[in-house]
Amino acid sequence: MEDGNLISSIVPILYLLSAVLFIVGLKGLTRVRSARRGNAIAAFAMLIAVIGTLLEMGTIHWTWILAGLVIGSLVGAVVALKVEMTSMPEMVALLNGSGGAASALVALSQLWGKIIEPQTAGAQAAGSVRSVLGAAPAVTTVLAILIGTVTLSGSVIAYMKLSGKLKGQPILLPGRHLINVLLLGASLVLGIWAVTQVLEAGSLQSLLLVVVAASLLLGVMLVIPIGGADMPVVISLLNSYSGLAASMTGFVLNNNVLIISGALVGASGLILTQIMCVAMNRTLANVLFGGFGAEETSSGGGGKHEYANVRSFSSEEAALVLESAESVVFVPGYGLAVAQAQHTVRELAAELEKRGAQVTYGIHPVAGRMPGHMNVLLAEADVPYEQLLEMDTINPEFRNTDVVIVVGANDVVNPAAEREQSSPIYGMPVLEVWNAGTVIMIKRSLSPGFAGIKNALFEADNTMMLFEDAKKAVQGILTEVKDL
Ligand code: NDP
Repeated sequence: MEDGNLISSIVPILYLLSAVLFIVGLKGLTRVRSARRGNAIAAFAMLIAVIGTLLEMGTIHWTWILAGLVIGSLVGAVVALKVEMTSMPEMVALLNGSGGAASALVALSQLWGKIIEPQTAGAQAAGSVRSVLGAAPAVTTVLAILIGTVTLSGSVIAYMKLSGKLKGQPILLPGRHLINVLLLGASLVLGIWAVTQVLEAGSLQSLLLVVVAASLLLGVMLVIPIGGADMPVVISLLNSYSGLAASMTGFVLNNNVLIISGALVGASGLILTQIMCVAMNRTLANVLFGGFGAEETSSGGGGKHEYANVRSFSSEEAALVLESAESVVFVPGYGLAVAQAQHTVRELAAELEKRGAQVTYGIHPVAGRMPGHMNVLLAEADVPYEQLLEMDTINPEFRNTDVVIVVGANDVVNPAAEREQSSPIYGMPVLEVWNAGTVIMIKRSLSPGFAGIKNALFEADNTMMLFEDAKKAVQGILTEVKDL
């Protein structure tokens, strides 16, 4: 068999294998236990896809490929090693943006390589993009440029909000919905015009730059009105967009594995977005257009809520309660991540287990600021997976639990979600910690959580408030427990 024939029969097999491995890898990511393996399988699938693509391309400038490989791997490795676990959402935002940018650039390069350059050089007669590329690739090229650039600028804004480089509160510009509709309309109409009309190479080039500029602005406008604490939902949605853009690029390049992997990213990002919205009992429209958190955020505004009967306790008193506890559940929240208290929590858990207590962890799906935030932090501290119990499993257990230690969580344990119909979080599924014998609530003050609302749990008869930084408080309890 000739080399060309051999390659054209091997490449589809490599693509098929890669697509199957992407699906197997994704399946692995659905369980904490198999997540690492799933990640490795998906990375291997990507390697196979890259090899397939290089074989398919045929004549390759290896120096460029190697240079890209070395630089990309170095940057990726350094960033992945340096990034703090709490900064992971920022990193994901930047990665999504890069994915969107890559798709848009590939689509643009197709237009440049196949139309603008040959026409400028006089090697090709003037003709519409549709007549040169075909109708479907012409449409998907425009969509890849549009979605890719919206993803890029939206992700950069999400990154800036999360990292504090831009104000976290929603920035609500007057007439923003109309501006967004106009920008979207302009990008679509000009994009379709660019690929359906017979244009001079120079005019096509200018039109494409206008489409890119309008979509970049649209990405900024779409994300800027959303509060910093809603960014994880936005990032998940942008992740879905980056998948869609990649899928569109797959149509542009007629590359099946890119279409499949892009569709997988698009669909899984959308499913995750939906899971997060359900866990917060909010609609996607409310997250995207509601300006949630415009008045109050978790960093301030605590003084608005009046509390009576709040009883403050010391770590020594908390340790005395724990001394006789046979079952203890830790409920971690955003404050645990801020204080980086996961290792100290693990040490306290080990000490309590040594004294005969049964220890588990109650994990709320949106505790913290990104999906799986608590699972990742606790895994980092080597907490055994089987001790992490999901909300539906742990909720019926609270009635038989002696002590719940809430470490920097607030909204996810707020009884208003079940009891107060007027509450903004009414209907959100929460951890019913109040059913336990005693609740030790560790936080620094009476400040509200992300939702900015009062938490009646602070006033409950069986709640002991321990006002301190989470890490210091848990360390304090640990020292006292050891002294008992
Ligand atoms: P919350 O935001 O409700 O509360 C966190 C609490 O941690 C605050 O009340 C704060 O109180 C306390 N805290 C902050 N720093 C420290 C510290 N150093 N030591 C001790 N305590 C500290 O967090 P939850 O995890 O309970 O809930 C998450 C919220 O985020 C939910 O409303 C959810 O809907 C939202 N959200 C989550 C997403 C996700 O994917 N996980 C995505 C989008 C939104 P104080 O200042 O008094 O210490």
